[in-house]
Amino acid sequence: MNAQIREQFPILHQEVNGHPLVYLDNAATSQKPRAVLDALSHYYEWDNSNVHRGVHTLGTRATDAYEGAREKVARFINAARSEEIVFTRGTTTALNLVASAYGGPRLQAGDEIVITPMEHHSNLIPWQQLALRTGATLKYIPLQPDGNIDLADVEKTITPNTKIVSVVYVSNVLGVVNPVKQIAEIAHRHGAIMVVDGAQSTPHMKVDVQDLDCDFYALSSHKMCGPTGFGALYGKRQLLAQMEPIEFGGEMINDVGLYESDWKDAPWRFEGGTPIISGAVGLAAAIDFLTEIGMDKIEEHEAHLANYAMERMSEIEGIQIYGPAKRKVGIVTFNLDGVHPHDLATVLDTFGIAIRAGHHCCQPLMRWLEASSTARASFYLYNNEQDVDRFIEALVQTKEYFG
Ligand code: PLP
Repeated sequence: MNAQIREQFPILHQEVNGHPLVYLDNAATSQKPRAVLDALSHYYEWDNSNVHRGVHTLGTRATDAYEGAREKVARFINAARSEEIVFTRGTTTALNLVASAYGGPRLQAGDEIVITPMEHHSNLIPWQQLALRTGATLKYIPLQPDGNIDLADVEKTITPNTKIVSVVYVSNVLGVVNPVKQIAEIAHRHGAIMVVDGAQSTPHMKVDVQDLDCDFYALSSHKMCGPTGFGALYGKRQLLAQMEPIEFGGEMINDVGLYESDWKDAPWRFEGGTPIISGAVGLAAAIDFLTEIGMDKIEEHEAHLANYAMERMSEIEGIQIYGPAKRKVGIVTFNLDGVHPHDLATVLDTFGIAIRAGHHCCQPLMRWLEASSTARASFYLYNNEQDVDRFIEALVQTKEYFG
């Protein structure tokens, strides 16, 4: 990746606590390139209007931008058609929609939902609550000591009673890439549907939902250079068509009577109320930006940085790195002996380095790791080896400071 890419992110060109900013909290949220910022201000300066309502020019422009973004998302993840993309507030809302609208009416006692202990709370609590509501059983695929999933364990956990399998594609803590295509095949063989949490995969690698053959796939705009508060749920057409909406109001209806109403087709039946139009505009611009650079190139660059960081971190005594020895994605979670991760992140901030500390919305995984919290450095396309070097130097100084 060259300096030209970094140039396009205005926020990176500032000093924090007297040092040039090194932003390594990309798994939490990504920074936005000039193209996305310009698309957002252009939309508000020229096209702002409500969608699907106005016949005037601005209304048509806003609707075209919103529906155009749906097509862009569909192409980006290779959905067969744009009607398979439901716009949501993000991955969390997308996964809750599947749990409530698909799972709610279909599950009962004796049915099973299968997930893993590495799930983000967004892909854990909706299933836990669905199980509590319906009497279904929640089951976990065990993890290997390095955090990977063994397909033999998947075969043992999924049974003919399993109705829903939901797994994160890329873990936001362990940095593993899960074999979701193979898990989908096992799920389907048992008559279950496959849901994929794509919050950490979509921004960083080429995704093909048809090749994965997953039934639902969730993503967040803000982790892939787009605005916060926006995202999407991909759902196979025949499944979305069978699902009833869970939110009711303007724009999601065909006909409203005093005592009964009926709904538009999917995806619009799931998008009641005025949607986050600027979110769609920004996400579309982010997709153009990422596509032009190339997802393969982005993936390769981030894996290189993560492996370079791990190699240099291993020279520091007392560092424990969680997850597999080699990375395919840019996430490195660790602890430094004798230094609480929050203290570590606070001291690194004094050097202008932003990392994450805490449980990363993965409390069950923290317990599995036997850590109350961890530190995490996560990389994106605009990071470079100098960022890693600055991070390592700061780690060494922090270790010396805490003695
Ligand atoms: N799943 C994973 C793996 C994540 O990393 C995140 C966010 O950190 C989410 C789900 C939730 O995404 P959002 O907060 O955008 O809904």
